[in-house]
Amino acid sequence: MQRNIAALSNQTFDVVVIGGGIAGACAAWDATLRGFRVALVEAGDFGHATSANSLKIIHGGLRYLQDGNLRRARSMARERQAFFTIAPHLIAPLPVVVPTTVGLKRHRWLMRAALAANDVISFGRNNPQTVRLPRGRLFSRTEWLALAPELDLSRIEATGGAMWVDGQMVNSERLTLSFILAAAAQGATVANYVAVTDFECSGERVTGVIVRDTLPNGSTQPFVIAGRTVINAAGYSLHHLLPGTGAYGVGLDIQPSVALNLVVARRFADVALALPTQPPSGQPSRLLFITPWRSGSIIGTAHVPFKAHDGPGLATTAQIEAFIAEVNTALPGVALTNDDIQHVHQGILPAWKNRDAAAGTIRLVREGRIIDHAQHGMDGLLTMLSVKYTAARLLAEQAIDGVSRHLNAGQPCQTRTTSITGYGMPAALTSAEMTRYAVRREMAQTVADVVLRRTDIGTDGIPAADTVNEIVTVMAEELGWDEARQRAELVEFNSYCKTTVDQIPE
Ligand SMILES: Cc1cc2nc3c(=O)[nH]c(=O)nc-3n(C[C@H](O)[C@H](O)[C@H](O)COP(=O)(O)OP(=O)(O)OC[C@H]3O[C@@H](n4cnc5c(N)ncnc54)[C@H](O)[C@@H]3O)c2cc1C
Repeated sequence: MQRNIAALSNQTFDVVVIGGGIAGACAAWDATLRGFRVALVEAGDFGHATSANSLKIIHGGLRYLQDGNLRRARSMARERQAFFTIAPHLIAPLPVVVPTTVGLKRHRWLMRAALAANDVISFGRNNPQTVRLPRGRLFSRTEWLALAPELDLSRIEATGGAMWVDGQMVNSERLTLSFILAAAAQGATVANYVAVTDFECSGERVTGVIVRDTLPNGSTQPFVIAGRTVINAAGYSLHHLLPGTGAYGVGLDIQPSVALNLVVARRFADVALALPTQPPSGQPSRLLFITPWRSGSIIGTAHVPFKAHDGPGLATTAQIEAFIAEVNTALPGVALTNDDIQHVHQGILPAWKNRDAAAGTIRLVREGRIIDHAQHGMDGLLTMLSVKYTAARLLAEQAIDGVSRHLNAGQPCQTRTTSITGYGMPAALTSAEMTRYAVRREMAQTVADVVLRRTDIGTDGIPAADTVNEIVTVMAEELGWDEARQRAELVEFNSYCKTTVDQIPE
């Protein structure tokens, strides 16, 4: 996969995709497979934003069954199955256990019925070639207590547990990248560090996007990428450029919210645990997830309002502190100290504006949708309002169905079954060899691209200075960096590391 900026400006694409998170990556892959001429541009590195910050669960339909939404539950079970089919090397079965209680909400009999219904809506989930997901089952109280001795689960009033099996992304960064590598291998023109600054229009039709190369040695001159259709998969960031009024230009009453996970060095259990919080009286309890990840765990997810602030990251220190306190109140056995926390995941998710509820309460948008801006005078522009990693493939299918209708061309969607294996890094490489591979074959442009997204070197902690220095040296050889650029890269990466540490409260 080569970064060819000239190729972006010397042709007219059928589809220009803005944003290389999982939504844009799936859209580019889908459109390429249908025979369209595709460009994808990403303002930073592929998959660096919300898509790198998820809890890494590929959900089935159980949570939607609890809402009584059978259509959505079946749809998510099919999406989980699709991920296991197309990327079995990057998804592993993840048992999830929730306590059963004497109260009605999670009573054993109710959970037994929910697990049975979940098995029914997940029919066809097993594929002898790729995966076997066992049926859900109930645990006795003794089995429940033995799941995570360190957590002292006896503090939770449980009669036992209910277990079902979802998927866990082994490496979400490489999963997102694999869709982009696959699209590029099939002919898509893709580039990271190219930011869209505006849309190009002719009358009421969108005819492309105006972009800027944001790398230090890139041209400062904006240029146009011509497209017969444009897919906006940039999350919330471009909504101010969209036509019409309100968020996403269609009067939707939506605002950005921040979602947080804590990446901690301690591993509490080999299954994911869904444990109830203990809020002050009068407030509803919710479930915290503790998922095993690498040698530690990820604890999530808190949803807080997005507030502009001067500090690093999306969430404020006070919001992060409040989440740590919530975890320690709910699970005294965890007794998290700041030394346990390696990283705070944070990403933007769309939430409904909340007029009536107490300030600070977040009501997430639960289902993604495609917004066609033709109705607002920008024919050919479609926005993907994306709310789940798990649902991104399906949302992309809906977006490219829209492109097909618009262009009156294109084959049926093939992404449900077409494999994206074969885009991994060769095994047993040294860090220098991985760096060369990442630069030559996977468009790594900065130290963070190599350390955080092409390799596992820094995904569960900040790497040693010697390793980072070696990576800079190899990248300098590969990309022709002079000494000033090497110093700048080190400063940039060290500042990222400092930001990561600074976000963890004292
Ligand atoms: C803490 C947390 C936990 C979560 N847990 C789960 C989970 O367990 N399972 C699940 O299914 N989902 C989960 N999610 C939701 C999931 O991560 C998101 O729905 C998904 O990653 C959104 O993908 P996206 O591509 O829409 O957004 P992003 O990944 O943010 O991608 C948008 C991209 O657009 C780029 N961009 C922005 N502006 C421009 C521009 N002007 N020009 C070019 N590019 C631009 C950005 O740089 C970015 O890379 C979680 C989210 C969070 C934050």
